Formats: sequence, structure tokens, C-alpha cells
Amino acid sequence: MSDITPLENLGEFGLIRRIQETVTLRQPSTRLGIGDDAAILAPEAGHDLVVSTDLLVEGVHFDLTFCPLKHVGYKAVAVNVSDIAAMNATPTQLVVGLAIGSRYSVEAIDELYEGMRLACEAYNVDLVGGDTTASRGGLTISITALGQVPHGQAVRRSGAQPNDLLCVTGDLGGAFLGLQVLEREKAAWSADPDMQPELSKYPYVLQRQLRPEARMDVIHELRDLGVVPTSMIDVSDGLASEVLHLCKASGTGARVFSENLPAANPMLEVAEEFQLDPIMCMLNGGEDYELLFTIPLKDHDKIKNHPDITVLGHMTDASDGVNLITKQGQPIPLRAQGWQHF
Ligand code: ADP
Ligand code: MG
Repeated sequence: MSDITPLENLGEFGLIRRIQETVTLRQPSTRLGIGDDAAILAPEAGHDLVVSTDLLVEGVHFDLTFCPLKHVGYKAVAVNVSDIAAMNATPTQLVVGLAIGSRYSVEAIDELYEGMRLACEAYNVDLVGGDTTASRGGLTISITALGQVPHGQAVRRSGAQPNDLLCVTGDLGGAFLGLQVLEREKAAWSADPDMQPELSKYPYVLQRQLRPEARMDVIHELRDLGVVPTSMIDVSDGLASEVLHLCKASGTGARVFSENLPAANPMLEVAEEFQLDPIMCMLNGGEDYELLFTIPLKDHDKIKNHPDITVLGHMTDASDGVNLITKQGQPIPLRAQGWQHF
């Protein structure tokens, strides 16, 4: 690292001014951003507002040993946008609360905001405010995202019906394996600080872990295809856990065919190296931030050629339970083994 400027040199208001100077506003619904007692927003007529908040704590949700602050900033925004996407909404504004530990410099906070700025650009959202305080511990980042959705088109977890198709975007398990790689390298590095981490062999899974993307692209494409999912959730804790959430909220069961689970080749290779069952990685690994949703059977033709949507199976009556169907046709009850922070 080149320069290290203590945060005291800027003070709280100097830091806020510095943040304000780098922020670009893009949304017509943002009337006033950073700098007053509150932001002023004017949502489009005929739309509903959605709001979601996430708290990220150093040492619990991120670890700065191998994760650059720029990636932490990008991911913090992306995971919030993912929640907005999972409501079938478009993100519009963010507010960011920071509690900053004493070992952080001005340059470190610049890097964090550089990541958030890149994500704001990628998802076309405006950073319109926040709060800043010192912390006795590490860094805590709280982000609240706002979004809008045409009235009546917000998608809840509770709308799935028996026979609806259960679909997922992208591929699964990569982020979990990326974390396994980072943890192995961190353990090796703790034992011998001179060792060089072996990370360049694993670009795909590391990118899945360190710099996930919210699937806003799929939300826009579904809108273009005229498909409104009957239920939706984003995959943050692991597919099994999310399928159970949809089933519980909708009062249905589900059949997920193990042969249909979307596996990327780099994920399979790393799973083999770590001697982990790729099916378990795809079912229970967290943080892929893909979208899991259900659609009526009649919409199958509209999505069947989409390269980034996989039909995993279908919803059933609640009495059939929530099952993984093996290659041999054997049903195995799905259980949630997602992230446990506590
Ligand atoms: P107050 O004392 O009324 O809370 P602040 O001095 O905390 O006001 O905030 C001044 C302005 O700067 C507000 O618009 C606030 O939303 C914004 N702001 C404060 N901290 C941050 C931050 N970390 N990121 C973005 N905006 C911030
Ligand atoms: Mg404040």
C-alpha cells in the first residue's frame, strides 16, 4: 500500500464530503442526494416501493486477509441489489451506514467506496446518503436499498402453486468452493507468513465468492419475455434452504432433480480437489446470489431456450414433501444446512 492517511486528518465531515464528491446520481427519481438531513426521492407513478437492508460485519461476513476492500464494497451493494431483484423490482437508491475501526485509513475507505461506486454504476443505483461513526472493533457496513416495481408485479415467496416449474439462474456451488480455497490459503499463510497464496489457479470460484453479481439481467429479460414468476427468492444461504423457504411460504412441496442442478466445470474441478460432493456444494453452499423462482407451466416455452435459466423440477402438493430426486429416481428429503453465523 502506498499512502496511509489517518482518518482523523479528514474528520467525519471531511470524509463525508470526500464520499459526496465521488458520487454520481443517475435516477430521475432521486431529487436530492447526500448533503442534507435526508434525501428526497420521487418514485414513479404506478409503482410500488420495495426496501431491504443488510448488515455486514468484519470477521463474520467478510475477512480482509484475502478480500480487497474494493470487492467488499462491490459485494455489499450487489447482495442488497440481489434482494431487490428477488422481489422482481429494479433498484433505485442506496443508503450506507459505516462504523469504522481505528486501523482504517482514508485510502482504505476510498477503496471501499470505489467498489460501491462501481456497483452503483453496474446496477444503475444512486448512493443518496448514509451515516458514519467510529467503531471500537473492525468495520461494519449497513446498506439499505430501495427499489421500485410496477404496481402489482412485486413477487413474494408465497405465490408458488403445485405444478409450477422451479427454476434457477446461473450455476451453483462456486461461491462456497471459492471460500474453501480462501480458507485453505489463509490457514497456510497463518502457519507461514512467507508463503505465497496459491490463488491464480481458481479464478472462477474466487470471483463467485469475492465479487458476486445480482441477477438484474435476468429480471429485465423475464420482463421482456412477459414472464412474471409466481414466487421468487435469491440464493444466499444455499439452494436447499431457499427451496424450503419458497415451499413453506407457498404451502407446497417440491421435487428437485439432482441431474438438473447447474454445475460449472471450474466448480466441479475444485470440488474434486477438495474431495467434496459437488451435489452437496450446489445444494448447501451459500452466497451464489442466483435467483430461484417458480413459473406457471404455460410459460415453459418462453424460458426453455434461455441459456442462463435451468428448470430444476416442479412444485407439488405440500403432502408430497420437499425432495431431491436422485439419478435413480429415489426421493431424499431436502434439509437446510445453510450458513450458520451463530
Ligand atoms: P446527521 O448528523 O444529520 O446524521 P451527517 O453529518 O451524518 O448528518 O450526514 C450528512 C450527509 O451525509 C447526509 O446526507 C448523510 O446521508 C450523508 N452521509 C453520512 N455518512 C455517509 C456515508 N458513509 N456514505 C454516504 N453518505 C453519508
Ligand atoms: Mg449522521
